[in-house]
Amino acid sequence: MHYDVIIVGGGPAGIFAALELADSANVLLIEKGRDIDRRSCPMKEKEVQCVQCQPCSITCGWGGAGAFSDGKLTLSTEVGGHLNEYIAEEKLIRLIKEVDQTYLDFGAPKKLYTIDNKQLEKFSREATLAELYLQYSPIRHLGTGLSQEVLKNMQDELLQRGVQIKTNLTVRSILSENSTVTGVKTDNGCFYAPRVIVAPGREGHEWFTETATSLGLEREINPVDIGVRVELPKVVMEHLTDHLFESKYLYYSKTFEDKVRTFCMCPGGEVVAENNSGLITANGHTRSDRKTENTNFAILVSKNFTEPFKDPIKYGQYISTLANMLGGGVIVQRLGDLIDGRRSTKDRMKKCLTRPTLTKATPGDLSLVFPYRHLVSILEMLQALDKVAPGVYSRNTLLYGAEVKFYSSRVKVDRNMETAIKGLYAIGDGAGITRGLMQASCSGVIAARGILNNKNS
Ligand SMILES: Cc1cc2nc3c(=O)[nH]c(=O)nc-3n(C[C@H](O)[C@H](O)[C@H](O)COP(=O)(O)OP(=O)(O)OC[C@H]3O[C@@H](n4cnc5c(N)ncnc54)[C@H](O)[C@@H]3O)c2cc1C
Repeated sequence: MHYDVIIVGGGPAGIFAALELADSANVLLIEKGRDIDRRSCPMKEKEVQCVQCQPCSITCGWGGAGAFSDGKLTLSTEVGGHLNEYIAEEKLIRLIKEVDQTYLDFGAPKKLYTIDNKQLEKFSREATLAELYLQYSPIRHLGTGLSQEVLKNMQDELLQRGVQIKTNLTVRSILSENSTVTGVKTDNGCFYAPRVIVAPGREGHEWFTETATSLGLEREINPVDIGVRVELPKVVMEHLTDHLFESKYLYYSKTFEDKVRTFCMCPGGEVVAENNSGLITANGHTRSDRKTENTNFAILVSKNFTEPFKDPIKYGQYISTLANMLGGGVIVQRLGDLIDGRRSTKDRMKKCLTRPTLTKATPGDLSLVFPYRHLVSILEMLQALDKVAPGVYSRNTLLYGAEVKFYSSRVKVDRNMETAIKGLYAIGDGAGITRGLMQASCSGVIAARGILNNKNS
């Protein structure tokens, strides 16, 4: 029952912390979901609507949300989290390289999507002329399928190096005395350690928010990103995706000056429905073993709230609930129908030249879901993108809604990811510090090294 370090959550953040600590400490990793081989989603396998498994196999279990993610490793300090606010740029660049090498060692593909300065200049110029900003990052793409394999390899290595892993076990609370952590309380008793790393992911953000509040930890509210998943024939964006893989464009809407961005580009990918604590939202991925004729990506509008309402997550949940109420899940609409002010129907969808990859989405009307502000910003962004990739603003482009990114409120931590409770570290997406695989993994290494340095000093 006594360990040197307890890690809560077996996603990339927790796994990378464990990899770093395995040789120097007696480590217990607790994960509330199933083991990776036992993770299966009826929605994917039997093509049925979400049956609300508890816990959800897409977001919980060994590998966390990383296991069924698209596996795009973004090699940039600017995207995927806030780590550049905690450690110096050069140090973060080195850490990203190190973490990338670890992914390679565990089976990630060698191919890196990268461009030379001349190409970057050309793509950036085209973006500027369209009133867009191109945020370029080299990408290593694992793809769904290989992501699971890589994470499984990491688990085998950890077990071999003596890390104890308990799956199907939920941590209910963090134990502390005199502002110092002492362990965790689970469904199956208490476990004790002078260091606890909490890495609960987006899935565990509600639990961690409550826990942080009860421990008196300071938090900062992150904005909520609300938008649609766009799907179109692969050829429309091939001149970009073949080189960049992920083209991240930023735009400030003319009407509202809201920040709008493209996110999670999936060339040859599939649109998927995802269960976000009971709410069904759209997402996308590209499988490593199977490609489609389409490309999909998200367009997200960022919004924060101040007074009197200051709960962006609730706002995002409200929009998703509305989409679920009207569509029984994810709604799909042809852009042409949205522009004409009418819903898409099964018959209208039959005439659509883009074949939907998420066949169980309900044809409907997204103008009944999104506030005017969001809808206008999305349409403006589609028009701007049409300038760099003609065909984006086509009547046959498909929009799936809602896609919502719930970013957890950010817990106050120091440069080692340690909270105001001595020995309690908070990392990854669940602590609101990161938003993607690369930075989540890096945050695990930072916390682990912080612990090892403290131990040795
Ligand atoms: C469909 C999809 C595609 C994605 N594609 C990409 C991509 O291409 N590139 C990219 O950079 N990012 C992508 N992401 C995001 C990426 O998966 C996350 O940023 C990353 O997994 C975060 O890592 P994490 O370890 O912080 O959290 P998670 O991976 O969410 O892991 C947290 C783990 O903690 C467990 N947990 C939570 N609470 C408790 C508790 N109380 N007790 C015990 N265990 C608990 C959960 O079950 C979960 O397994 C994608 C996400 C999804 C859902």
